[in-house]
Amino acid sequence: PKAAELKSKAAAQAKAQKNKEHPPPPPPQVPEPSSSDRPDGALYNVGKLLGKGGFAICHEGQLLPSKQRYALKIVKSQMPAKMESKFQTELQIHSKMRHKNIVQFLRSFSFNRCTYLILELCPNGSLMDMVKRRKGLTEGEVRFYAVQIAGAIKYMHGKGIIHRDLKMGNIFLDSQMNAKIGDFGLAALWVTGRDMQTIRRTTLCGTPNYIAPEILEKGKSGHDHSVDLWSLGVIVYVLALIVDIKVRRKANKNIRFAMLTSKPPFQSTTTDEIYRRARERDYEWPSHDTSVKFISQEAKDLVATMLREADKRPAPDVVVQHPFFTSGYMPSEDEMSSRLRELPPD
Ligand code: ADP
Repeated sequence: PKAAELKSKAAAQAKAQKNKEHPPPPPPQVPEPSSSDRPDGALYNVGKLLGKGGFAICHEGQLLPSKQRYALKIVKSQMPAKMESKFQTELQIHSKMRHKNIVQFLRSFSFNRCTYLILELCPNGSLMDMVKRRKGLTEGEVRFYAVQIAGAIKYMHGKGIIHRDLKMGNIFLDSQMNAKIGDFGLAALWVTGRDMQTIRRTTLCGTPNYIAPEILEKGKSGHDHSVDLWSLGVIVYVLALIVDIKVRRKANKNIRFAMLTSKPPFQSTTTDEIYRRARERDYEWPSHDTSVKFISQEAKDLVATMLREADKRPAPDVVVQHPFFTSGYMPSEDEMSSRLRELPPD
């Protein structure tokens, strides 16, 4: 009991510490101070809470009088030094991005000891939320998202930016259900060997499920843009597994719902074990029942090519020429937006 008590106390402290880093809830209206391109300033009505991140809270916001809706990402202006530099990098990089599959950064300003980022609103949550909600995808839908994400990666890399933290929870969905990469907190300009220790430390705070093994390897500085292709490989694996789940459910109505979860290929209980499995490419596709025939060989092969050694991973525009994309149907953006809003039949 003593140990349990200590544990719950530690958990409570960690929680308190975490909340301390979040800004307080914003007032119902937030004024944007005047600036050279907006001399009269502006006013935002603050709407519902969209989510909380490591140190940010995000609310819906409506610019008056146009009523245009945005996401207001709010962080405390005074942050611990480590977070401050992470945030400054995020701001710098994100504000330079302009691509239809990257959350658009509009502007930032200070108010009431907080920094407000005005971002394109993604009202449909993250890719992770969407697959949970829909409990399944078709292979065409996986193609659609993989192409969009590969396009955004190609764009970032063309600008000399490596994202380094691509995962289902960092890819948001706009009103039309297009994928938008958000959260540039770990992104970096591509400078070889740059602050590897920091990357390791920062990544290890979060989930290493999507992290290329060379990032985690001590003493290795050979990490570059190909880490984002590894993450794309993990994302496609997770999405493909969900295709399988959906088809399996159709084929066998008796499959219990609780069984139907998708998990990243190297998922384990400890970080070390995830890392070991990633290093050894120790992952498998479900083969214990009829499911195996529902995940196409092309999908499996595509994932395998992206989980190769760093220098053997295909560039994003090579990825989209893979037979997985050319061998089957891909829905249009119009189809996707009407299709994905619907919940799947149970
Ligand atoms: P952090 O950088 O602290 O991890 P995030 O960028 O992940 O913060 O944002 C925290 C949460 O806010 C996200 O999980 C998501 O729910 C929500 N969010 C962030 N950006 C947007 C956006 N552009 N549109 C809608 N919701 C967003």
